[in-house]
This record gives sequence, C-alpha cells and structure tokens, in this order.
Amino acid sequence: QVRVRFAPSPTGGLHIGGVRTILFNYLFAKQNNGKFILRIEDTDQSRFVEGAEDYIFSCLEWCGIKADESPRDGGEYGPYRQSERKSIYREYAEKLVEAGYAYYAFDTSEDLESKRQVTENFRYDYNSRQTLRNSLTIPHEAAESLVKGGAPHVIRIKMPKDENISFTDMIRGDITFHSSEVDDKVLLKADGMPTYHLAVVVDDYLMKITHAFRGEEWLPSAPVHLLLWKYFGWEKEMPQWAHMPLILRPDGHGKLSKRDGEKFGFPVYPINWYDKNSNFKSDGFKETGFIPEGFINMLAMLGWNDGTDQELFSMEQLIEHFSLDRIHKGGAKFDYEKAKWYNGEWIKQLDLSALLQPVKAIMNYHGIHNFEDEYLAKVIDMVKERCQLLSEFHHQGAFFFNAPEKYDTNSVVPKWSEEKKAFFMAFADKLQSANLTESAAIEAKFKELVTEHKLKIGDVMLPFRIMLVGDKFGPAVFDIAATIGTEETKNRIYKALE
Ligand code: GLU
Repeated sequence: QVRVRFAPSPTGGLHIGGVRTILFNYLFAKQNNGKFILRIEDTDQSRFVEGAEDYIFSCLEWCGIKADESPRDGGEYGPYRQSERKSIYREYAEKLVEAGYAYYAFDTSEDLESKRQVTENFRYDYNSRQTLRNSLTIPHEAAESLVKGGAPHVIRIKMPKDENISFTDMIRGDITFHSSEVDDKVLLKADGMPTYHLAVVVDDYLMKITHAFRGEEWLPSAPVHLLLWKYFGWEKEMPQWAHMPLILRPDGHGKLSKRDGEKFGFPVYPINWYDKNSNFKSDGFKETGFIPEGFINMLAMLGWNDGTDQELFSMEQLIEHFSLDRIHKGGAKFDYEKAKWYNGEWIKQLDLSALLQPVKAIMNYHGIHNFEDEYLAKVIDMVKERCQLLSEFHHQGAFFFNAPEKYDTNSVVPKWSEEKKAFFMAFADKLQSANLTESAAIEAKFKELVTEHKLKIGDVMLPFRIMLVGDKFGPAVFDIAATIGTEETKNRIYKALE
C-alpha cells in the first residue's frame, strides 16, 4: 500500500511551497488508494515556534485536505510527533555505533570553536575526526565509560572517505553524490534528541513510508539518508524519493521566500500567519479573498500540468490526472495575476450557496447589514463574473445597497445640460408612475424618452450609470436599475441632479 508523508518542522508558518508539497503528497496518496501521513518533526526545540503546528492543521482544513494519520487523527504507527518518540531514536543510533557506522563525539562547543579559529572552513569529517575527541580516537573502554558516566556527547555518522552514493529520484532521475561532499552529521544530539537526519530515516522506516516527496532544498541531505538506510540494513524498504522543484519569485530570481509577500505585495502564506517569536506577520491567501478551489488549482499548476491545455482542475480531477512524471524539474515562477485568474474562474463556477456566507461576511465587515439573503444572492449572481477575489464583492456590489456618496468625476462630470436634466427628470417620473420593474421594460422606456427628447443614447447611458453606481463599472445598467428598484433609481437620479 502506498504510504506518503509530509513531515514539517514547526519552526514557522507553512508557506505555499510547503502546501504544494502537501498537495502533491495527498494527490498521489488518493490516486493510489494510499495513506497520507502528517508527522511533526519537532526535534529541534530551539527553533520551535508556538502555534506552528496549529497553523499546519488550519491550513489543511482550509484546503480540504485530511491526513489519514497524524498527531490529531491518530493511527497505527504513532506517536506522530517526534518529540514524543524520543526514546526510540537512541537505540537506533547506538546500533550504528556498534556496527562501526557511527561514533560518539565528546568535543565541547569550545573545542569545536577553537578548531574553527585555526582552520578555515572547518568541518567534522574523515580528515578532522582523527584530531578530535571521539570514540575513534580514544580507547574503546574509555569511550564506553564516558558514555555510561553521563559525559555530554553526540553521535555522529562516519561518512566514508571516498564513495559514490547514488539513487534515482522520481522527478530528477539518477543522482550521484560523493561522500567527501558531506561532513560527519550529528545523528543524536547531546540532549538525547535525534537530529532531523536520524529521525526522518527511522520514522520513514517505522511508519512504512513508500514514497517520500519533499522540497528540492533537501536534496543535499539525501546522501546522509541513503547511507543511513543502507547502514541500518533497510535498503529494500527505502521509500522512492521525489524532490519537488522550487517555487521561484515572479522575477525568476531565486526561491520565493516568506518575506517576498511583503516585497511584492501578494500573499505567500495560505492563511494569515503571525510568528510571535520574531513578531513576523504575513497575509494569507484566504483572507485576501481566495477560495480553496482556486488556491488548490493554482498551486497544482505551479510546476505541474497534465500535458494538455486544460488549466482548470477540481481536487477530484487533480487526483485523477496527477502524475509525478509531469512535474517539471526546473523551478516554477509564481505569477500572482495568474493565481487570481484561477480564483476568479472558480468563483464563477461556485454554487451560490457556497458564496453566500463568505460574501455576507465581507459586506457586514464593510458595514452593510440590512438586507435579505435573497437580495444578496441576486447581487452575487450579477457581479461574480467580475470578481477574482471574494474581497472584490464589496467594491463590485456595494452600490446595490447604498447610493453612491461621490461620483467618478474623471469620466463624466455629472454636470447636466438643461436638456439632459429634463430627460432624466422625465425618466425618473415615468419609472415610478408606470411602475417598471423589469430590466427590459426600463430599457424600452429609457430609449423611448431619449428619442422624444431628441438626444442620443450615447449621451445619457454613461451618465445614468454614474448616477446609480458612482463609477464606470458594473453589470448592465438597466439590470442594476431593476435590482435596486424604481424608487431607489428615482432617488439616485434626483440626488445626482441636485
Ligand atoms: N522536517 C523536514 C521539513 O521541515 C522534512 C523534510 C523531509 O520531508 O524529509 O521540511
């Protein structure tokens, strides 16, 4: 059975790169009737950020993605928080020491610091380990008794001096590293906590992970992990790996970072994120006005397509069409305009019932309260073509609730010639006396009076719109008049003519 995992460290909010990795994991799992596991890799307590785990769950919920196993959902292979698995890791690290693939190192941070002072680009590796205090340089018994006596120590992997380390990445194909590129990474820290390298391998093994998808930034760690799988004798169980391409800044210059949202003026986090430790705040796609359907669709297309021109995919369609071999190797440039386009397309397709509550909340937020749901539904239907973001419903729809306070004086100055004034007065009165409620009837009357007043339709259409909307945008003007009603239309005409 396919078992995939997303394994975030709760050291900050999850920006869209992480969510895309979640999405690809999830799609692959669902497509293969597999399981999607969420594991919290919280072994680096110094980098722990309060709220980061909650944030991950809130993001999943908003995206409509549910983990099959997680710290909150439980599962057969728990616990799913590495800090709660602390006791498991030492045993494995010690097995490696016994087998000669790892060693105890007793160097204090001062020892290492003084090495750094005298050696440029100091690394703990096959060269320098000979000159440091570890179980390779001191007699075996002495090392054992230091460990037993509780002397502070770490366990490090003994990287081979001259070995090629290869694997086949599902996206990138064959990749080879040379062992000399990597230092003797710490596996178990002095506080007894494993490092990421040890924990990720042990847990992927114990949790029977079959495919491991992660960001490209983890590629340099792959040789350490490959060796660990080999040294533990678990090569046959090793998951297949896929390293996801980076999401790049819109200008293509480097990886999209969490600070880029502010720089470029668009969200990079799925929902509002606030990091108390560093007092860092960033806006979310959700609060900016994205709907999950639009967000998921645009995320899937960052670095993937199905090989056809189809651009709109629901989650179900993504599950059906997704394939790893269509993930691009190169980074994907983030394009905010395109992201909004996806969202707009999904807003158009959404059922009214799904839009009503969120749009109501937006109207309320802007102080628009007294209306029937039915009326709002009508407005939504009329303006949704024009909204790429939920938040735009306010701007696009506010005039259905309130008469304009001011008029767009750049386009048409509502300075009325006597002829036009007479026309609008006559029209307003006719509207009411004939009680015209249908858009077509209003339009017919309007045109009839235009002829009667010897005007051209082009002279009065835009002014009429400005009277009702205050600006040049909006749906068909006679539809607006029919929706706000005869009385209100008349009032707005009078108000504008004042
Ligand atoms: N804990 C790592 C992270 O924060 C997981 C990387 C991996 O998936 O192996 O992204």
